[in-house]
Amino acid sequence: MYLTVHMVSGLLIGNQIGNPWLAFLMGVISHFVLDAIPHDIRELNEWQNRDNNKKKQAIEGYFDAFFILLLTIFLLSINKLSLGQTTVSALVGVFMPDLLWIMPWVFNYKNKWLEKYENFHLTVHKLIYKKIYITAWIAIPLQLAFFLILFSIYLSIE
Ligand SMILES: [Zn+2]
Repeated sequence: MYLTVHMVSGLLIGNQIGNPWLAFLMGVISHFVLDAIPHDIRELNEWQNRDNNKKKQAIEGYFDAFFILLLTIFLLSINKLSLGQTTVSALVGVFMPDLLWIMPWVFNYKNKWLEKYENFHLTVHKLIYKKIYITAWIAIPLQLAFFLILFSIYLSIE
């Protein structure tokens, strides 16, 4: 899923789990659970692959980062973001699985273990739906639904 969705699950975990190590672990697990749900946009992938343009893939990342920023500003404005130890641990846990496979791609860096990890990450994406990519008409509402469910749970807890 997009990091914006992972972020909300991280906030929820950080809020509910008292131990920072457990919060981190739950964050990592939640990332893979959410990633196993088919969510990758076919139309976007076709557009990016047409001329194999790295910039086109970066645009996707920028959008995600932009929504994370919006979400952070919104949460700060309603006083719903407290970055305690468990929240920070959970957030590191939810972001790390994607940052790890993006890193070699961004820095043109090759590493055997990171390549193995990238394959594992991809395998998780194929777990439920082997072809990975689904139409935007399903992928976007699906991610939005997960976002809204997790976010409303997060907002409803004190
Ligand atoms: Zn991921």
